[in-house]
Parts: sequence; structure tokens; C-alpha cells
Amino acid sequence: MRYNPYIRACPAMEFNPLLENIKNVYRTISSAAIRSGRNPFDVKLIAATKTVDVARIREAIEFGLRAFGENRVQEAKEKILHIRAHMPEYEVEWHMIGHLQRNKAKIAVRMFDLIHSLDSVELARDLDRHASAFGKTQRVLVEVKLSEEATKYGVPERALIPLLREISSLEHLRLEGLMTMPPFFEDPQMARPFFRKLRELRDAAEATGFRLPELSMGMTNDFEVAILEGSTMVRIGTGIFGERGR
Ligand SMILES: *Cc1c(COP(=O)(O)O)cnc(C)c1O
Repeated sequence: MRYNPYIRACPAMEFNPLLENIKNVYRTISSAAIRSGRNPFDVKLIAATKTVDVARIREAIEFGLRAFGENRVQEAKEKILHIRAHMPEYEVEWHMIGHLQRNKAKIAVRMFDLIHSLDSVELARDLDRHASAFGKTQRVLVEVKLSEEATKYGVPERALIPLLREISSLEHLRLEGLMTMPPFFEDPQMARPFFRKLRELRDAAEATGFRLPELSMGMTNDFEVAILEGSTMVRIGTGIFGERGR
């Protein structure tokens, strides 16, 4: 089995609610992956850390987490610089999971390993230009809007293929897959058709020649069904860190 940096054995220690949450999330990921006939190591856990302070992020790193998702560029930048300065020995990945404004594209390229929320040709061109200037290849996912009420953001289904085509033509972007955020439902089974839809869109796009191995879908309330529908990246905040203060 190949080494997976996202899932690591947790050190044995006394009861700690954060550690218990992390273990429970891993257990659910593993059982859902196995039930869907996949290897648990193929589902990556992205800890969503908006409003979570750096002390708790540091603790989560100590407990084995290596990938964090942030929603706002400025908040992320402060945390990333802090973690880089104070825990340089850990290889931590940072993911942009929130909406990205074009005027933040430059910092985003400097800060994030993977941007989940690419949703327009204009943003793609900006990211490509900044990545070129910075000397990097920016990994990206395309966020797809599957319902009117779900989110304000994401590319509508009919504009997906043209956007994928544009991204593929840009030398400094590496397209790795799709992301979506269904509306919130109390009953996670209600979110399932949205996850299935994203997988079908991915399969259709792959049939026309794109390679889109990653499906970023599933949050605390619905990641189990998202994995059953083929998710390879779950973005979990509340399930790890508890309810966010508003
Ligand atoms: C906050 C957030 C998450 C995590 O949500 P939880 O319900 O707390 O797990 C996942 N994805 C995105 C884009 C988010 O903004």
C-alpha cells in the first residue's frame, strides 16, 4: 500500500476531544471507502480550519493531520506563515476551499498547494499568469454549481467543458478534478444526488479526454455518502474542531 500523508497513525495518549474526533472521522472514512469498494488511503482528509486558531491547528498537526482547507486568503496567509515558521519540520498542505476573488489570485498562488474553487475563465487566466511569474505549476480543481440555492459560486454545468478546455490550455495550471458543495440538508441522503451528479459529470468529461482523478465533495454532515459516491477529498471542519463560533 502506498504511503498516504493524509492518514497517519495517531500517537497513543490520554483522552483528548480533538484526537477522538480525528479518530472517529478516520473510522467513518475507512468504513465508507471499504463499503464503496475502495482503498481508505484513496480518500484524503482536508481539515477545514476557517475560524480555527493556530494553536488548535498545531495540535491537529501533532495528531497527524497534514492537509488544511481555508476559506479566506488573508486569514489563511497568517496561519500558513505561522505554521511554516513554528513547525518547519512538518510537510503541511494548504488548500483554498472558499470562493477566490480575482484580486486575491496572486497571494493565493503563493500560499496554496491546491485551489478547489476555480470557477471562471478569467480567474484561470489570472492564476496562470501569477503561477508563471512565481515559477510554479498551480494545482486546481473546478468548482461546479449544481443547484441554484446551493452556493453563489461555481461554474454552471453548461459552462464546465469550455472552462476545462481553457484550463488545459494554460501552461502553469494543473487540473486535477472537480469540487462541489450541495445545499445543506439535515438528512445526508438528500445530498447524495448532487455527489452522484458531480461524479457523472467527471466521468463524462473524462470520456472526452480530460483527466480528473479528484472529486472534492463531502463535509461533516454528509461525507459518508459523498465517499459512497466516489469522493476522493472530504473537507471536514465541525466534525474535527467542533462547532464554529460565529
Ligand atoms: C466550512 C467548509 C467546510 C467544512 O464544513 P463543516 O460542515 O464544518 O465540516 C467544507 N467546505 C467548505 C467549502 C467550507 O466552507
